[in-house]
Amino acid sequence: MHITFYGATRTVTGSNYLIETKKSRVLVDCGMFQGSAFSDAKNFSDFPYDPKTIDALFVSHAHLDHVGRIPKLVQLGFTGKIYCTAPTMRLAEIVMQDAEHIMEIEKKRDMRPKLYELADVEKAMKLFIPVEYSKIISFSDFTVRFRDAGHILGSAFIEIQEKGGARIAFSGDLGNINDPILQPTAQLAEQDALVIESTYGNRVHEALHERSNTLHDAITDTVKKKGVLLIPAFAIERTQLLLYELNALVENRIIPPIDIFLDSPLAIKASAIMADYPQYYNTATLKLISSGDDIFTFPGLKTTLNREDSKLINSSPKPKVIIAGSGMMNAGRILHHLVRYLGSSSTTVLIIGYQASGTLGRKLYTGEKRVEVLGERIDVKAKIASIGAYSAHADQKQLLKWISSAVHAPKQVYCTHGEEDASAALATEIFDELGIQADVPRVGQSIEM
Ligand SMILES: [Zn+2]
Repeated sequence: MHITFYGATRTVTGSNYLIETKKSRVLVDCGMFQGSAFSDAKNFSDFPYDPKTIDALFVSHAHLDHVGRIPKLVQLGFTGKIYCTAPTMRLAEIVMQDAEHIMEIEKKRDMRPKLYELADVEKAMKLFIPVEYSKIISFSDFTVRFRDAGHILGSAFIEIQEKGGARIAFSGDLGNINDPILQPTAQLAEQDALVIESTYGNRVHEALHERSNTLHDAITDTVKKKGVLLIPAFAIERTQLLLYELNALVENRIIPPIDIFLDSPLAIKASAIMADYPQYYNTATLKLISSGDDIFTFPGLKTTLNREDSKLINSSPKPKVIIAGSGMMNAGRILHHLVRYLGSSSTTVLIIGYQASGTLGRKLYTGEKRVEVLGERIDVKAKIASIGAYSAHADQKQLLKWISSAVHAPKQVYCTHGEEDASAALATEIFDELGIQADVPRVGQSIEM
């Protein structure tokens, strides 16, 4: 078996791995590269393989950096099947449609090129085959198994075994512990090699209780200042986790009454899809749902699906909370709210997810005082708060724990899906703490198993 690293290699986005056996050529993930531009220039280069020669694609989960180049793959002649869990299939569809919508806006506004058209998404959707966790799927000379990664609904790590040969697992993205909604990450089976994400390979998250404290404090502070709390949120999973925690804060009257706007069509659609798959939730959440509590809805929550409703948020009185995408502030409705409120000292921007290098989110996170949003230069007067414990990703400690609690330790680990220093830090820890050989591959590097 021959593995080549083509994306999310010494960077976080653009996940893409080519696996070649004697009889097959398959891919794991086909994600979009994201940076200062919503769709990075790198996405427009040719694939380093001919899409027509690829037999199948296995998708770990529905985030854009794992599915965003699928329509392009199809446009260039890929006709194989696309395997993933049922929620991933449903979520991937709205994620790819939403990206097309953003690219269409950017094309009209900034003359940026589009990576694909809606017709390509439709064509891609016809190739999807939903699979269940833990079922072994057999191909000519290898088998594949999807296991629960606990990262977002339907997320999987993917185990590939050559018949009578080597085994390799691709972690996809791994979940943060104690996610109140999802099942925990499944145990890793025995592997010859493991390709693991390292988004937070050099960081340890705050304690869990600090998470709801920070949210609670940000809201009460906003009420006191009669200001605006902006929460740039990833539409899938982080937004629903936020709604879940706000649901508890509101219904138990822990926070004062305040208008909360969910201003993200993608998040609104994702919440509806997530409600269709209760069997993927953990037992505590299942219990809550069956007791009649709609976990993503509560008094004071207003969802704004269309643009007219979204514009009305501007004229609604303060204090107010606005949850809008994109999570890294490189596109979407959050930009309009930032233009309006970033220059005010009564505003708080609460960063709850990973901010990739080059994004506006990263600039604010690192304390830049003058930024450009939608062509306007803005002096940042808003308070910028952040909390890593909201991340959907495992931190360094959790990643090490997941590897060490495998049925048998993998013989070799490759750290990907992280910026270079994060991947390198994790590789060092894996070697020092667990005694396992660990490397940080380069783009285009191949390994023979
Ligand atoms: Zn992800």
